Amino acid sequence: MERIFGKPLVTQREIEKRIKEIGTKITADYEGKELLMVCLLKGAYVFFADLVRTIHIPVSVDFMMVSSYGDRTSSSGVVKIISDISSDIKGKDVLIVEDIVDSGLTLDYLYKNLNARKPDSLKICALLNKAERRKYDVPLDYVGFTVPNKFVIGYGLDYQDNYRNLPYIAVLDVSDI
Ligand code: 5GP
Repeated sequence: MERIFGKPLVTQREIEKRIKEIGTKITADYEGKELLMVCLLKGAYVFFADLVRTIHIPVSVDFMMVSSYGDRTSSSGVVKIISDISSDIKGKDVLIVEDIVDSGLTLDYLYKNLNARKPDSLKICALLNKAERRKYDVPLDYVGFTVPNKFVIGYGLDYQDNYRNLPYIAVLDVSDI
């Protein structure tokens, strides 16, 4: 089983515990406000679904799909919005939810793009931070785990659209593919 899905890096239990902590922090930080949470598809969908249920203030949700690695394991260097959010974020408190920050290119682009739409506030929540790969200085307000410079899969993250259903985070072992 482990060989098929790679080596576990963050367990299901660790993910659950950390998400509860982040949800508690977000609830406190946005107390008395209404929050619009934007899920970056596809990678963040599992994290997003678990995270929203740990937040105890009024929350609305929206979804955005941007280009990612495609079929390769290195960044393409170009960000494209494949599908935009459906709501007007002007004057709203917006929280972008991302699966993993690598070079920071995607979030650097998105942060500037969404900020130009004049939200009241704009913050970023990322499950995983590949800090040593950072090239673009993006403000990460909430981070689940810092991970090493390895290609990871599971809990929404894919390799060629596979492994998203794995309930924990694993390092993709090249001998598995
Ligand atoms: P960045 O723009 O920060 O370089 O890359 C961010 C995007 O690259 C993420 O949203 C994700 O789609 C993809 N990515 C970066 N590192 C990994 C990884 O280790 N595993 C997977 N599955 N995707 C990754």
